[in-house]
Amino acid sequence: MDLHEAYDTLLGEFVREYIVLSQIYYILGWDFETYMPPKGVKQRSEELAMMATLEHDRLTNPKIGELLKTIKNDPKYFSLDEEKKRNIELTERKYKRESKIPKELVEKLAKHYPIATDAWKKAKKESNYSLFKPALDKMLELTKEKAHYLDPNKEPFDALVDKYEPGMSSAQYTKLFDELKEGLIPIIKKCVNSPNQPNLSLIKRKVSIPIQKQLSEDIAKLVHYDLERGRIDETEHPFTTGYYDDVRITTHYYEEDFSDSFYSVLHEAGHGIYEQNLEHKYKYQLVGESASYGFHESQSRFIENLIGRSREFWEFYLPRLKEMTGNVFSDVELDPFVYAINEVKPSKIRIAADEVTYSLHIIIRFEIERDLLSGKITTEQLPEIWNAKYKEYLGVDIENDSEGVLQDSHWAGGSFSYFPSYAIGNIYNAQMLAKMVEDIPFKELIKKGELKSIIDWLIKNVHSVSNLYDPPELIKRITGEEISPKYFINYLEEKFSKIYGFS
Ligand code: ZN
Repeated sequence: MDLHEAYDTLLGEFVREYIVLSQIYYILGWDFETYMPPKGVKQRSEELAMMATLEHDRLTNPKIGELLKTIKNDPKYFSLDEEKKRNIELTERKYKRESKIPKELVEKLAKHYPIATDAWKKAKKESNYSLFKPALDKMLELTKEKAHYLDPNKEPFDALVDKYEPGMSSAQYTKLFDELKEGLIPIIKKCVNSPNQPNLSLIKRKVSIPIQKQLSEDIAKLVHYDLERGRIDETEHPFTTGYYDDVRITTHYYEEDFSDSFYSVLHEAGHGIYEQNLEHKYKYQLVGESASYGFHESQSRFIENLIGRSREFWEFYLPRLKEMTGNVFSDVELDPFVYAINEVKPSKIRIAADEVTYSLHIIIRFEIERDLLSGKITTEQLPEIWNAKYKEYLGVDIENDSEGVLQDSHWAGGSFSYFPSYAIGNIYNAQMLAKMVEDIPFKELIKKGELKSIIDWLIKNVHSVSNLYDPPELIKRITGEEISPKYFINYLEEKFSKIYGFS
């Protein structure tokens, strides 16, 4: 078999099938979260486990190892183009990584995901952590086992992190987060201590769910999320799933607070357009995936915050909101409204947090995850430690588990080492914005509601680049610099000093 034949077999047979299988897995997961009947949990757990083991089989087939050898030993290997070499590198990485995990463990993890998620949902509803603890214990044990197989010499957090942010480590996160904390805390203090506080009654007004659904479609279209290759459904926690021509987003509607769903849709549509605009010629190749979870969050939070929470956006959109909601907001003026939308207030719930305090929620989770995985703390102590950290970092009192340790679904799904990606996303996107404004008149375009050039910039620099580079290299290519929290801190200082009137 020659080089090209080996490459075509590797991609056409193994990688392609693995990717197709993983998309089926995601659709099953989407259905589990949206429309599956409540008693279908056990059955779905079998189905997911079957899909996960098929994926694992496809990815760990020893023939992949042989094909990789044939390809890399060929003298013409170095003359292959960059995309092909990248595909080979990514396949080799995935093959080696996945081959370390026994099939039985893959099956156990996939089976446990819906069961633990179901337990989490019930526990959250009743605000009773003890209903979730046994399932969490099992998930944690299986995850630690996985981390050990991946790399017994690394801290479990670090063994797992590659899946979410290749090239990152807990030491690097600690360094970035220390810098972030140092920049955030003075801004939070100035906002909280400011004598002028926003009037929230301007946004917390009743908007019927059918109208909120119209708003969802309107803003999704506005940011160029393609509804013919996507859809919007409802779940407890909003999320995005899918790939290229079938990318689905979800949201959650609250009658008394339209902004909750409004920003969830903007956020998820930001994820959605990333997946919809991956380079089409890379479909079914590993180079055709997104760069990382951190990059994904940079895109969703770019749309949600840098665009959606800007004064310029509301200059354009407030008249439209008024028109679409009848007389609900007819008396509202732009500045007080923008102020209310951007209230900075340390709070209990991550997904409802403002731009300034948000990253502290992530830092809390990062520290807990790292210690939980290393065994420094136990699940028994979890609610107590959670509440203590919320008091220490955000100054808030957690009164029950539902608004505390049970608020997020990630650990139930086995996603440990994932949370830091959210904060990394904030850092990346502000860094990108600093570059973008050199290229296009960002604020003027938003004021006019002309988002196309902005989205096109993101497509050109991020989405269509797909997975050609690891995150550290990608951010450097886009911005000319290594990851640095200073742009995010500068962005927040500039924005919030204007809103809250401090210097
Ligand atoms: Zn997100």
